[in-house]
Amino acid sequence: MNNMDITSFTYSEATLSETASLDTSRSRAWIEISLDALRHNVRYLQSLLPTRCALMPVVKANAYGHGAGLIAGELNALGIRSFCVACVSEGVELRRRHIAGEILVLGYTHPDQFPLLDQYALTQTVVDHAHALALSAYACSASRHALRPNHSPLPVHIAVDTGMHRLGEPAEHAAQIREILSLPGLQVTGMYSHLAAAGGTDAASRNFTKNQIDIFYQLAAQLKNCPDEYVAPHVRLHLQASYGILRYPLPDVDCARPGIALYGLLSNAADTRACAGKLRPVLSLRARVAAIHQLSAGESAGYDMAYTAARPTTIATVTIGYADGLPRSLSEDGTAVLLHGRRAPIIGRICMDQLLVDVTAIPGIHPGQIATLIGQDGQESISAADLADACGTITNELLSCLGPRLERLAL
Ligand SMILES: *Cc1c(COP(=O)(O)O)cnc(C)c1O
Repeated sequence: MNNMDITSFTYSEATLSETASLDTSRSRAWIEISLDALRHNVRYLQSLLPTRCALMPVVKANAYGHGAGLIAGELNALGIRSFCVACVSEGVELRRRHIAGEILVLGYTHPDQFPLLDQYALTQTVVDHAHALALSAYACSASRHALRPNHSPLPVHIAVDTGMHRLGEPAEHAAQIREILSLPGLQVTGMYSHLAAAGGTDAASRNFTKNQIDIFYQLAAQLKNCPDEYVAPHVRLHLQASYGILRYPLPDVDCARPGIALYGLLSNAADTRACAGKLRPVLSLRARVAAIHQLSAGESAGYDMAYTAARPTTIATVTIGYADGLPRSLSEDGTAVLLHGRRAPIIGRICMDQLLVDVTAIPGIHPGQIATLIGQDGQESISAADLADACGTITNELLSCLGPRLERLAL
């Protein structure tokens, strides 16, 4: 580094610390979280469930991109005491952020990671009978007893496969499930299944779902009728995710596992619209205008000359791209961002960190202005569900891909 470099380095550092005393959190691209909307959705979902049924919000994938610490912290403050995550590392992250209560790992955990279950007080899903044996062997091991001299059992929930064939001991294996309930070292505190087609409204989906529900309750009844001392009432039953809560009300559930609905959305735009007013979107996604360019007719902009101006055109560069989780496939299919409460169509290819929009029809655009990718601006709004539809996916995927570079701010 020569002297010039050192000088300019010092200069830029000074500039940064200057802005740090202001609000740097919204400097480039960020997510705003409406805690009001979250609280509303909690109340609404709770109102659809039996009084004794506890919400067990699903905060996997960084709470569907919303920020797991922020969301789970607020839910804790509302009195929610159970959460679902996909994997051990997500559970560890929540504990590091001082989230209290039960944290259920929904996915498979390798035996090498079992000690983390103890260390961070996580509840593991038993994904099948073989997994239960491995968990029990760990729970009874001498090395664990050295760490946990009080011999406290390892809390688990049993996953039951009622037709999805993803995880779970098959429901027809009642004998094996009874054995899991009595394995040494384990305390089974829940038993659950997952509905694979609750979002479908056609007859086949409805029949499939009703069949899954029947299979689950037949198994539960069978286990309750057997005199095994381990089949105690503390085994909580749950099987509804968002669509299950909305479409398949069940009188006999102890918990429910809403994900997408908690965030005020359903998986596609039509379903989300049908719930408008009942569920409120929690997330807004915003970025800034970085630069303005004037194009003459025939000039192209962005990568691959994918866009060419048909007439004199004013374009703006916006500070968000596909590395932030905005799908590149949104390029050139009529998707817009909001500026000054008006729609500015995305043009050309979405870049890794930036995108271009046509602002010819919107006067007075200048660098620093806020662009809305998802959310409300004046009278206009863009739903995450519309964006998901536009790129052929579901809101769950779109939101869970929103990256760590975006800051999350609670409003
Ligand atoms: C992801 C997941 C949920 C939440 O699903 P939504 O459709 O987002 O409500 C619930 N249960 C299990 C087992 C899951 O994997």
